[in-house]
Amino acid sequence: MYDIVIIRNGEISIKKKNKVDFENALVKNLKYRLHKNKDLKVQKVNGRVEISLNKQDAIDTINKVKDIFGVVSLSPAIVEENGYEKLFLGIKRIIDLEIPQNKKSSFKLNIKRIDKSFDMKSTQMNIDMGERVLKEYNNLHVDVLNPEFEIYCEFRKDVNIIYTQKIRGEGGMPRGINGRGCVLISGGIDSPVATYLMARRGLFIEAVHFHSYPFTNERSKQKVIDLVTHLTNYCGRIRLHLVNLLDIQKEINEKCPEEYMTILSRRFMMRIAQNIANEYECTSLITGESLGQVASQTSLGLLATDNVVTTMPVFRPLIAMDKEYIIDIAKKIGTYETSIIKEEDCCTVFLPKKPATQPKLEKIMNYEKVLNVDNLVNTAIQKSEIMEIKIR
Ligand code: ATP
Ligand code: MG
Repeated sequence: MYDIVIIRNGEISIKKKNKVDFENALVKNLKYRLHKNKDLKVQKVNGRVEISLNKQDAIDTINKVKDIFGVVSLSPAIVEENGYEKLFLGIKRIIDLEIPQNKKSSFKLNIKRIDKSFDMKSTQMNIDMGERVLKEYNNLHVDVLNPEFEIYCEFRKDVNIIYTQKIRGEGGMPRGINGRGCVLISGGIDSPVATYLMARRGLFIEAVHFHSYPFTNERSKQKVIDLVTHLTNYCGRIRLHLVNLLDIQKEINEKCPEEYMTILSRRFMMRIAQNIANEYECTSLITGESLGQVASQTSLGLLATDNVVTTMPVFRPLIAMDKEYIIDIAKKIGTYETSIIKEEDCCTVFLPKKPATQPKLEKIMNYEKVLNVDNLVNTAIQKSEIMEIKIR
């Protein structure tokens, strides 16, 4: 039976001060995920994060936490009392637990002498303990280059810790470590994937969705709520702003050339999202755009939307990704099935027959002169609906 799960976190380049914040955020998220099981204790010990199992199942626990952002790898380990003789006891325990007895296997010991006051070098400890293992287990032989089982031992002042497995975790950075980002989320495949990817880099998520009710229906709104609800599994709670774009679209439709409909509406979306982001302390916008995927996602199209965002960066994590790759991620995170349900989208209302693919910024600004931009933006925000979506 295992005693602890070792959690390795962090990227190699993380600085010291950040490391502390990083670990604290990770501990908080781990505790939250495991809070139903009172026997499991998450703690910062031995310069890292560990979960004390208190007789609970290790693999079960690992499966519960391995997809938490910031968890790079995990090891189910046993803890033995301190001292050299106890180290051998620990090694025997892990062998009995993990290496089949009725079959020949190769192993390698990898002992780290963390207690430097112990007067035997780790190379010597490896040789000595290796010999003891060979004497005790007929089915085992040493292979230092390509062992089937590498037995890692931490020879510490207060305990011995022993494990063989390193299970890969989700990686990324703990939720919230990099502040808050505001995603423009549609009911499509891309923006939920973009949300996931940026949350994975340590952002809390604020979400804005634009609809054209009553042209778009309740079901299309519910679809976005479902997607956001699913995303809370990764991102934690999400505040969702539902903004009706219809009045703005009508105004553009009436006063501006048809082929600029899409790009002009998108500029309004960005302005509105930016204002909401500022109000709710977000320091970035996030979109699911990918270069060349649709008419509005050309370099000039992106310039036209970027141009109205002046107070924060716009993150487009999918910009260089092929659709197949985006779909693979959507399937992995479980948003794909909901995303492909056919519903009306606000962008399909007043859809131009031939949208401008090379929109000129100069022209755009001219067209906008006839619109009362600030007023339209503020009114849409005032009328918006806010929902708190909690972790499912
Ligand atoms: P998606 O699959 O995310 O809908 P898409 O390939 O359909 O993306 P567009 O419709 O051009 O591309 O939208 C590009 C980006 O603009 C989206 O990824 C999203 O970030 C934002 N966006 C589009 N429509 C909406 C909407 N109704 N509400 C909020 N954001 C939107
Ligand atoms: Mg879309």
